Amino acid sequence: MDMKKYLIPVSGLAVIACGTGTVDKPNVIYVFPDQFRNQSLGFWSEEEYENHVGWQADPVRTPNLDRFADESLVMSKAVSTCPLSSPYRGMFLTGMYPERSGVTLNCMALRPESTLNPDAVCISDVFSANGYSCGYIGKLHAETPMKNDPARPGHYVSDRNPEWDAYTPPERRHGFSYWYSYGTFDVHKNPHYWDTDGVRHDPHEYSVKHETDKAIEFLRNENGERDPEAPFFLALAYNPPHSPYESLDDCMEEDYALYQDMDYSELYVRPNADTTLSKAPSARYYFANVTGVDREFGRLLDEVKRLGLDRNTIIVFTSDHGETMCSQGTLDPKNSIYTESFNVPFIIRYPGKIRHRVDSTLLSTTDIMPTVLALAGLGDKIPETAEGRNLAPVILENGEDCDIPDAALYIRNLDGPADKNGIVHGIFPEARGIKTDRYTMEISITRDRELARVLIFDDWNDPYQMHCLSFSEHPELFSSLCGILDRKLEEADDIWHREQILRHLTLGKAE
Ligand code: CA
Repeated sequence: MDMKKYLIPVSGLAVIACGTGTVDKPNVIYVFPDQFRNQSLGFWSEEEYENHVGWQADPVRTPNLDRFADESLVMSKAVSTCPLSSPYRGMFLTGMYPERSGVTLNCMALRPESTLNPDAVCISDVFSANGYSCGYIGKLHAETPMKNDPARPGHYVSDRNPEWDAYTPPERRHGFSYWYSYGTFDVHKNPHYWDTDGVRHDPHEYSVKHETDKAIEFLRNENGERDPEAPFFLALAYNPPHSPYESLDDCMEEDYALYQDMDYSELYVRPNADTTLSKAPSARYYFANVTGVDREFGRLLDEVKRLGLDRNTIIVFTSDHGETMCSQGTLDPKNSIYTESFNVPFIIRYPGKIRHRVDSTLLSTTDIMPTVLALAGLGDKIPETAEGRNLAPVILENGEDCDIPDAALYIRNLDGPADKNGIVHGIFPEARGIKTDRYTMEISITRDRELARVLIFDDWNDPYQMHCLSFSEHPELFSSLCGILDRKLEEADDIWHREQILRHLTLGKAE
């Protein structure tokens, strides 16, 4: 480890926080709680914002995010291309679709093939190679668990069977020189982390607060977390408002108090929600964690300002995917094209550079890496392996040419066949779909590759997606959407394109 060099004051100067990040090389803070749906942002109820979406915001209290939005570009139609924890993280880090990032399924010991390709060029590799100090705090969940517990060599990090949590050794950290992270672990008030040197910490407090404290230490450079002469890139990955959301063990009491007396008619504003589902009581705890994330994010923003870093720091607030929360009759919070799962917050602030407004560009997960690098002035360093678009010209409105997407691709993979030991091999590419400005379409298949279902929604006239349009009754629309999907699949060099799955289905069934 070369952390030692950061612990020695340079030229007799004390290690202080200020002075890093310039106009040419701004700092970047990327905050992404897990399972935070776009609908759970209070400002969507405000007059300025509500006309940009056709739906009503959840009854959540998010005063800090509301203020942040007022100073930021708010993207109303950002989507999580493959709305699951691990595939999202692989795409965010590499700018590649899951088949190339390596992370095709949620990482756990029975799916060893799904893991971040150690040779992939990550956003942090590029920042690091261009003089940035990079830090990662919170949930990673982009690697298969390995028997590499620093405290018990030759063992997984716990005795859970199968193992989900993971330790990431220094050689697999992709340019992140400061580390305070874990794989995946869902006890919000008893989290744990492995630090840069592989030492485990069990702080016994609300993870969102603890991780914000660590992020503030990083900003202040309290313990030599970063090179004080260099700009920094900090990724902060909160786990809440991810499940569990069943009791006061899962959130802070002060946040729960805001929602405890609300009945279902107040909590569930979406007409597509079924409050007879067993999950219905979860909304109060989910919204409590939304407010908990908001409070801690506000504390982070305050510290950025106090340190004088706000003018030269790009800050993004987003999420890995949404949460259905009883909408569409499903208990699965994610991994579906329904807007509650697919649509994510994407709010980006860069004072003096990005104008405050709401923008409806269809931002996909693969676009994030090239776009963020370009916003930081590293547009010529975007690796050729990145498959997404650089949408910085749209965000900066700088008049540069930009290939604006007319649709966003949706990917749903399930486990491929398992061997006699339960080890999963490959993927079953169950569904592909697209979102255009107006429509959402998903086509799913059976394991025999027969057509299983076609979903088509007119999001302009049916924002809650309650009326599926029949493809046989709307042949021209279906044909047009299939044409766009076919092109997106080819662009992504997706398995559906390579194995001609769509062509076989639609040509056969639509005639
Ligand atoms: Ca997740």
